[in-house]
Amino acid sequence: MTQSQHLLVEKIRAAGVVGAGGAGFPTHVKMNAKADTVLINGASCEPLLCADIHLMETCGQDIIKGLGLVMDAVGAPGAMIGIKAKHEHTLAILEKLLADPILTEKRRISIFKMKDFYPGGDEHVLVNEATGRIVPQGGIPLEVGVVVSNAESMFNIAKAWDGKPVTHRTLNVAGEVVRPIVVRVPVGTPVSHVLKLAGGMKRPDCRVIDGGPMMGRVLDNPTAAYVSKTTSGLIVLPREHNVIQGKIADIERLMRVTRLACCQCSLCTDLCPRNQLGHNLQPHLIMRSLALPGDHPVREQALLCSECGICEKWACPMGLSPREVNRAIKQQLKIRPSEVGGANLARHPYTDFRRVPVKRLLGRLDLLQYDVHPAPMADPADPDQVGLYLGRHIGAPAKPVVAKGEVVTLGQVVGEIPEKALGARVHSSVQGRVIAVDSEKILVKKEKVNV
Ligand code: SF4
Ligand code: SF4
Repeated sequence: MTQSQHLLVEKIRAAGVVGAGGAGFPTHVKMNAKADTVLINGASCEPLLCADIHLMETCGQDIIKGLGLVMDAVGAPGAMIGIKAKHEHTLAILEKLLADPILTEKRRISIFKMKDFYPGGDEHVLVNEATGRIVPQGGIPLEVGVVVSNAESMFNIAKAWDGKPVTHRTLNVAGEVVRPIVVRVPVGTPVSHVLKLAGGMKRPDCRVIDGGPMMGRVLDNPTAAYVSKTTSGLIVLPREHNVIQGKIADIERLMRVTRLACCQCSLCTDLCPRNQLGHNLQPHLIMRSLALPGDHPVREQALLCSECGICEKWACPMGLSPREVNRAIKQQLKIRPSEVGGANLARHPYTDFRRVPVKRLLGRLDLLQYDVHPAPMADPADPDQVGLYLGRHIGAPAKPVVAKGEVVTLGQVVGEIPEKALGARVHSSVQGRVIAVDSEKILVKKEKVNV
């Protein structure tokens, strides 16, 4: 590792940067590598989510600065910003910034204009679209020489370089709220506070999704939930909405229904984005195996599932959910995704004809009425209290390093990476006093304190 790469990795680790668009993989680990291409994932492909687009429009300079730092660190001579061609305004802003040789320091950075399909932001799909390479099944883009990071992560990298930890998060609020908004709030802001900023729910019988309608999760109790570093949006939908019902379905019942109703049409496999890249993921076979006794080896394929939800929300004519079945099987399996065999890494010749246009997906999900441009909200009121999750990232949860009653400053480390473990630091996003610490989170009450 070169000295400058070591310095960047250390600063990113110290700042607690994690992948802001997915499961929260600690970014410093990703940067400790060599690659020939850096790719910004600006697909924002989940229906109704738009925080990354907003950030690219308002903080493009920081994002390009972060991109340059990563290029230098991993030794990549070229980089791309992947963004959908439909975002003409954002594209114009980025093209103008990239034309500035002082900002780019004459690095080779281009824009990759994406088509408007879901899941265009799946790392495996994006890498294939932008570079023609196929990431091995169960593998990561680095294995084909590509570092992928989303726009918010790149922004956080630029801030980390200046010594600023991750304390804020951009997200948008959509659905049954009075005023759909896109806003930047302290990490740990109560979900109820963000919903108030959006004018509140329009009806009382709603559920809230943390993330998008395809891959997000329904919050069990929104009044006790907080914005994490990976919260890209909050979607509010009526309880009876099919998107909500699909997410709260009982898995045991789903397994029983699958045994009776799966007609083995194999549409789930034909339209699976990972299968189209030659990965050995055939959800129809996994569904068939549920009717067989014992643990059939085909179930190992579930480890290759990205949980994009195409099979459930788009493909299956019987209303079944291979995605939920895969998720349940994953929890039982003890092997690693890279140990699943049978890959045939070649893009299916019909891939382009099997794309799922986002507009049509919105219609299928019955979400078209919520597809409105959110109002940007500058300087929102801060919450009185924040809840800082210790384990909302890949790896070991952070270890609390503060105690109840202690005074903390904005940006102070409150959770440390356990020794020799993969993980991410947690920082206080407000100045105040610690009022509770447990294994899940640290609560900090905002307070003007003398430090
Ligand atoms: S959720 Fe379904 S469509 Fe998506 S990767 Fe998994 S099996 Fe394939
Ligand atoms: S699409 Fe539905 S019915 Fe067809 S094989 Fe897949 S799970 Fe079974």
